Amino acid sequence: MQSITHCPVCQTQFVVTEQQLNQHSGTVRCGYCLDVFNAIEQLVNTEVHSEHHHPTSEFNALIAPDLIKPDLSEALVTEVLVTEDPITQELTTEVQTIEVQAGQHDYLAAQAMPTSATKKSPVLLWILLIVMLLMMVVQSIFFLRHQISLYYPNIKPSLVLACEKIGCSIDLPKKIELILIDDSDIQEDAEHTGVMRLSTTLINQAGFYQAYPNLELTLTDVDDKPKLRRIFKPIEYLPAKTNIAFGLAAGAAVKVNVAMTTQGIAVTGYRVFVSY
Ligand SMILES: [Zn+2]
Repeated sequence: MQSITHCPVCQTQFVVTEQQLNQHSGTVRCGYCLDVFNAIEQLVNTEVHSEHHHPTSEFNALIAPDLIKPDLSEALVTEVLVTEDPITQELTTEVQTIEVQAGQHDYLAAQAMPTSATKKSPVLLWILLIVMLLMMVVQSIFFLRHQISLYYPNIKPSLVLACEKIGCSIDLPKKIELILIDDSDIQEDAEHTGVMRLSTTLINQAGFYQAYPNLELTLTDVDDKPKLRRIFKPIEYLPAKTNIAFGLAAGAAVKVNVAMTTQGIAVTGYRVFVSY
């Protein structure tokens, strides 16, 4: 069954089949003015059409080969030549035009897809921008981690843990003059002969976390001359569970116990220092 539709822009009329109307939900492109319209919505009342709106001239406008793509025009012209009945000839050509135009519309729709992707690109741009900002923040934290941990001791444990995961460390302040050695005492070990045991307390007098210092123990003879000297690193003098990377908190004190063999040398005194 064939119906007649018309272009709402240039009013050109077209013969369309039911199949064509069903394709693309009736969307077609006018072969004359190239306007895209819905052929179903623009259907012409056939009674009115037969009485008043069937001038041949309207169809002729549509057949004009120069309105059709060059590669298709040849086929269409051939069709025109072999068809004898002018009305049939016109109708056939129009149907083909409709098909061609419907096909073109498909093509245009396919072309329109990248446009919708372009619309999304600002969102991608924002995501990219946010990711870049986050990376900058993380990078800043990384490079300023020493200062941040100094001024914001509350977030320091998180920084230390994060740093341990990526293999970096947080440098702690090393102001040795603010580390106080208090309550030092040395005794010969009750169970092991020739072993001297030092107990002392290290106090961080700074208003911030500090790195644990090295402890230097010197054993002296009766003339106060150094006979034996050993430097203990924090890992050697601190309890095993101590997290050395956290450092010694502001105002905190830590009890230290170290042992040292006299190797048969008679020692009568000692000196203890801290250093970094
Ligand atoms: Zn038109």
